Amino acid sequence: MSLASPHYSAWALLRARLAGSGYWKPLWTGRALKNHYDVVIVGAGGHGLATAYHLARDHGIQRIAVLEKRLVGYGNVGRNTTIVRSNYLLPENHYFYEDALRRWGTLSRDLNYNVMYSPRGVVDLAVSDDEVPALARRGNALRLAGIDAELLDVAALERRYPEIAPRRARRFPLAAALVQARGGTVRHDAVAWGYARAASALGVDIIEDCEVTGVRVQAEVAQGVETNRGYVRAERILFATAGHTGMIGTLLGVPLPIETHLLQAMVSEPIKPFLHTVMVSVFPGHGETYISQSDRGGLVMGGHLDGFPSYTREGTWDRMQDVVEGAVDLFPQLGGVKIVRQWAGTNDMTMDGSPIIDRLRYNNVFLNAGWCYGGFKTIPASGAACATLVATGTAPDLIKGYALSRFASGHLLDEPGRGPFPVRL
Ligand SMILES: Cc1cc2nc3c(=O)[nH]c(=O)nc-3n(C[C@H](O)[C@H](O)[C@H](O)COP(=O)(O)OP(=O)(O)OC[C@H]3O[C@@H](n4cnc5c(N)ncnc54)[C@H](O)[C@@H]3O)c2cc1C
Repeated sequence: MSLASPHYSAWALLRARLAGSGYWKPLWTGRALKNHYDVVIVGAGGHGLATAYHLARDHGIQRIAVLEKRLVGYGNVGRNTTIVRSNYLLPENHYFYEDALRRWGTLSRDLNYNVMYSPRGVVDLAVSDDEVPALARRGNALRLAGIDAELLDVAALERRYPEIAPRRARRFPLAAALVQARGGTVRHDAVAWGYARAASALGVDIIEDCEVTGVRVQAEVAQGVETNRGYVRAERILFATAGHTGMIGTLLGVPLPIETHLLQAMVSEPIKPFLHTVMVSVFPGHGETYISQSDRGGLVMGGHLDGFPSYTREGTWDRMQDVVEGAVDLFPQLGGVKIVRQWAGTNDMTMDGSPIIDRLRYNNVFLNAGWCYGGFKTIPASGAACATLVATGTAPDLIKGYALSRFASGHLLDEPGRGPFPVRL
């Protein structure tokens, strides 16, 4: 059937919709909330949904509910700048992030849903000679671990990415770049929808507008969760609430080493395709800009955290200005391009920049949190590993380093990034 076929026309779709022909199928079914589950997952973000999917698919657990206080994809999973990569320095991180990057490559097939993984490359630019040894060190560590990374000098950068015009005079002259060619972007809301659809098909109940407000405990064993729709019994409970994790700590009487901070992003009006990769640059004493071009032509941009704890999702003008100034410094031709949308999300920042996947206070309560500004890229690995932890009670090797106890023992996985603020997406 050709694309010109009337079957695909807007009128045909509208007619089908009006006629209620069943053309539009819900991606996940709105099942009723039951009063008892084997596993209750709190939070229908990327991590909650992926864990539910793997619990059902890999561990055969049948009675699973994902309880979401708003909508599927309302949180950070639908607010991020979609960047995926595995070029982290520390072994605990780079093996885990690499597991995720490999899974992105097959996720559309696994979920039977196109998540639009685009391995267009992630290019970390160095804007001073001082930065080059740190990039080289990271690249060497990655290659030793069998993960691709390439350090490009200015000549190689010019050949590979002429759009950045590395020899052009600029406030911060480019010195080198570390490239991960398999890094790139994935359409974020498709990830939420794809996992929700696949989990639902395996029998998972995805319940929206259902806020968890408490945990009932008897003899040091969690019995279930209180919600705005009543009490739900649960054999095991997983909290995957990202920016709201601090409140969960308060709920369970465990102070968590997590602060909630704002991170904002923005998109420009669509322009002709000119940027075929993801460019990241930290400007000394100034800010950070990461920029990619969406399939629609808009430039998707972000930078540092706003710099103060907050649960609002508004973002400040001065941070926006930093990001835009950085983008124009990299690409002066963007000077007249308009920003058409800006948004923010609440990030669960740990003090070392690495996540926490562990038990939380009770033997049958688990926590998946601390994703900071970089948890989108880890969703497929986190879902698989966290499901194993919840199903078997034992953390797989890949996530052993992400235990909560590291904050007490001092074995931090300090990888918040480079630059004056710890932001690496
Ligand atoms: C602007 C921005 C840009 C980013 N860019 C990138 C990037 O390019 N690459 C990258 O890897 N990462 C990025 N991130 C980070 C990434 O988006 C997050 O780390 C990740 O999405 C967090 O995990 P999640 O998807 O499970 O969270 P969320 O989608 O936030 O899911 C948590 C869910 O829990 C729900 N919830 C909270 N409390 C309760 C409760 N009591 N009861 C029921 N439900 C509850 C919330 O409503 C929410 O839907 C970015 C984040 C932001 C804000």
